[in-house]
Amino acid sequence: MSGEKDGVIATDGSRPARVIDCDVVIVGCGVAGLYCALNLPEALSVVLLSKEAVDHCDSMLAQGGICVLHDPGDYESFFEDTLRAGHYENRLESVDLMIRASRPIIDDLIKRGVRFARRADGELDYTREGAHSRPRIVYHEDVTGEEITTHLLACVRDLPHARILEHTCMTDILEGFEGSGTRVCRGVVATGPDGEKIEIHADATVFATGGVGGLYSRSTNFSCLTGDGCRIAAEHGVLLEHMDYVQVHPTSLWSERPGRAFLISESARGEGAILLNDAGERFTDELQPRDVVSAAIFAEMRRTGAEHVWLSFERVPRDVIEGHFTHILERCLEEGYDIRERPIPVVPAQHYFMGGIHVDSDSQTTLPHLFACGETCCNGVHGKNRLASNSLLEALVFAQRAADRIMRDRFAEDTAAQLAAAARMRSRFVAGSRDVTDVALLTGAK
Ligand SMILES: Cc1cc2nc3c(=O)[nH]c(=O)nc-3n(C[C@H](O)[C@H](O)[C@H](O)COP(=O)(O)OP(=O)(O)OC[C@H]3O[C@@H](n4cnc5c(N)ncnc54)[C@H](O)[C@@H]3O)c2cc1C
Repeated sequence: MSGEKDGVIATDGSRPARVIDCDVVIVGCGVAGLYCALNLPEALSVVLLSKEAVDHCDSMLAQGGICVLHDPGDYESFFEDTLRAGHYENRLESVDLMIRASRPIIDDLIKRGVRFARRADGELDYTREGAHSRPRIVYHEDVTGEEITTHLLACVRDLPHARILEHTCMTDILEGFEGSGTRVCRGVVATGPDGEKIEIHADATVFATGGVGGLYSRSTNFSCLTGDGCRIAAEHGVLLEHMDYVQVHPTSLWSERPGRAFLISESARGEGAILLNDAGERFTDELQPRDVVSAAIFAEMRRTGAEHVWLSFERVPRDVIEGHFTHILERCLEEGYDIRERPIPVVPAQHYFMGGIHVDSDSQTTLPHLFACGETCCNGVHGKNRLASNSLLEALVFAQRAADRIMRDRFAEDTAAQLAAAARMRSRFVAGSRDVTDVALLTGAK
């Protein structure tokens, strides 16, 4: 095992580069990057990069919640809802893996301290969003992403074998050759906070660089998310998939001000909010998949010449508005709209990227030793259109699978007992959460 090493070398004779040696470099500190780090054993040294401050990631913005298999009887309808939203272009194996892993993932988050809304009897409360045939989304107020990401970040900061480099932007990857002459990824090149060049040498590289919203004039994403992982992958001949599958969210708060569009969560419509045109008439079924609702809004705007439509919370009980949609209520008040009193102006905005770096079900790209997970990759879960609240789940499930695969490759020579011991070491914060499945999972036993 190599511990992490830091040094300086002159790469081209003129400009010295700082060099960091580690086992795994993870580019991105959203839920995908963080959860991948948390699922690697202490025996591996890990370096994580964040382009800006760590809280500048879309994971912090997720409002509505995260899907989970409600009960065993929910499997078929969860599967079907995901496929219907995805226009049946989804990769079936990936959808199956995600749904089956969903309950252990939520249990793991809870063991790590993440709080989800509960009913009076203490059981988890489930909400519903567009295109879901039943409630199966767990949530924390309307700031689920912040709740999850903050906890995962704190857990990663506690890891003795991992460190985070903020304001450090990956600009390229490093390539090398394996014994047989196969081209492989050997780490990344980055620019540090003071503009210094950094080479991070690693056995495994994980892209968790998020979406592409920064490339659009109206988007709900952080502007620093500009598809860097995809660009660099393409430059190295790594296979990309469905780069035109971009999701537009039907309801962002309309504003004349430039900058990130504020999202009005889909669960608002799930809880009864309705869309109206300038004449106060409903013009579509609000609970259809996002692409259908967005298309209906655009058509209505074209028909009436309006710059936006309206979202009315009239049918949403006041206690739900004040209890569940606290932050939306506050943010709209800041903008001069009281959602308890009158409709708010909304307009569709770029929101999510279903395409990306092609990966297999272990999050491996077509370049050996390079992995991708989260929004930057395409593992086929979402097909042509993402079902609401499936992305946090998909990111976590396939980040964990990337970590599993890295560990399996790294310890391939070891015995099953050593592998199991390594697996248990990574679970020490959540004793018991994965012990049952780890050995079989990592040794490939069925
Ligand atoms: C407003 C909003 C609401 C949402 N609500 C929900 C929801 O309710 N439920 C749900 O399931 N999903 C929701 N989503 C989608 C979900 O939040 C994202 O798909 C998910 O969080 C993506 O996680 P990620 O780890 O892949 O990327 P991110 O969390 O975006 O993290 C990307 C990371 O990559 C880093 N990075 C990028 N490029 C570089 C580079 N060149 N060098 C170094 N670092 C780099 C960034 O700094 C960042 O740390 C929402 C998204 C938005 C925008």
